[in-house]
Amino acid sequence: MSSSPTGEIYRIDWLPGTDILHGTCHCGREHSSQDPIEMWEWMLSHPQGHQSTGNSS
Ligand SMILES: [Zn+2]
Repeated sequence: MSSSPTGEIYRIDWLPGTDILHGTCHCGREHSSQDPIEMWEWMLSHPQGHQSTGNSS
């Protein structure tokens, strides 16, 4: 294992015995999907769609 100097890290783990991919974004958000394409779209859509820092009304 080597550490990256940047915090821009996407991590995707595959859960053995299942078809489920568990992704962790560098912002700390997590997402599970059976579709790797959907997972990457979720990653690439950062920060849209999964980052909500409070509600502004
Ligand atoms: Zn994110």
